Amino acid sequence: MSATQPEVFDIIIVGGGPTGLFAAFYCGMRGASCKIIDSLPELGGQLTTLYPEKNIYDVGGFPKIRARDLVENLKEQAFQYHPTVCLNERAQGLVRRDDGVFELTTDQTVHCARAIIICGGIGMFTPRALPAASAANYEGKGVYYYIDHLDHFRDKRVVVVGGGDTALDFALMLEPVATQVTLIHRRDQFRAHEESVRQLFESKVEVRTFTELKDVLGDGQVERVELIHNKTKEVTTLDVDAVVSGLGFSASLGPLHDWGLTIENNEIVVNTRMETNIPGVYAAGDIVTYPGKVKLIATGFGEAPTAVNNAKTFIDPTARLFPGHSSNRKE
Ligand SMILES: Cc1cc2nc3c(=O)[nH]c(=O)nc-3n(C[C@H](O)[C@H](O)[C@H](O)COP(=O)(O)OP(=O)(O)OC[C@H]3O[C@@H](n4cnc5c(N)ncnc54)[C@H](O)[C@@H]3O)c2cc1C
Repeated sequence: MSATQPEVFDIIIVGGGPTGLFAAFYCGMRGASCKIIDSLPELGGQLTTLYPEKNIYDVGGFPKIRARDLVENLKEQAFQYHPTVCLNERAQGLVRRDDGVFELTTDQTVHCARAIIICGGIGMFTPRALPAASAANYEGKGVYYYIDHLDHFRDKRVVVVGGGDTALDFALMLEPVATQVTLIHRRDQFRAHEESVRQLFESKVEVRTFTELKDVLGDGQVERVELIHNKTKEVTTLDVDAVVSGLGFSASLGPLHDWGLTIENNEIVVNTRMETNIPGVYAAGDIVTYPGKVKLIATGFGEAPTAVNNAKTFIDPTARLFPGHSSNRKE
């Protein structure tokens, strides 16, 4: 093969989060060659980047599993079939040649495949900025947007900002290692999983409602924050070593917007086969929408095999949609 003629894979998977990794495994099960492309330096998507140390309780078969361990298991499962993995590459353009092969352009090169499965999650995710403008001066100096190592917070005093799933997850993760965790939220209602709210109020986390971050202060490093009660307007000072934003992430599909896909509210519309409006292009995981869609790892795990099995029949119309059970595979 010449350098100008990239190998044509059966399936290119855009995104190596849990959905993309499970899709890669399932490609192997269906005898489809596959390549995973991810813009991040590591596989695992949100689990690796945003909450590797968090325990996950709602993946079937695992009463409790740390996010980074789930990713390791997914990698082990997928790598049995030796998928080609391209990291630090951002998928940018997609065209279908006259011979039916898709040419997917990244910021590095061109990749070719007979079908595409987009498992891009929330796209390129950027954390929502903290409301206090001064917080930007302390990034890397005590202001955090995600928690990659709990050890950074050991024996520290931490304030977590927000009242959704991300904030509650972060507060609950930090509680056992930090000396003090304060969660501030501008309302008194929490947009988080009921179980997390229950755990929060049973934990040692100090919860301050109707409270907002006014200012971050310190001499080159976070030392304290000013908080404002949004009803009484009373300003208080809290000595902390770290400020953790739990305000969630804004998502952007970026270049995927230009692929001609039907997109609603930054999500790709798919049918029950996980087909997009472009024949041969499928999508699964957080990135998709359909009536009743729920964004969970578990739903991505269901959608991935649906996408792969349907992509298989697109590539080879004589192939069966339902391949049988995994016990039928050749060892
Ligand atoms: C703090 C927090 C806690 C959570 N806890 C739970 C939980 O307990 N249980 C649960 O079920 N869910 C939880 N979730 C949600 C869960 O993480 C997502 O549902 C899951 O990650 C979706 O997987 P995915 O593979 O579809 O997408 P992602 O994990 O987002 O992976 C998508 C990948 O695609 C890549 N990508 C995107 N666009 C491109 C592009 N153009 N080119 C190349 N690569 C691209 C991204 O870099 C990323 O690696 C939590 C989320 C957060 C933020």
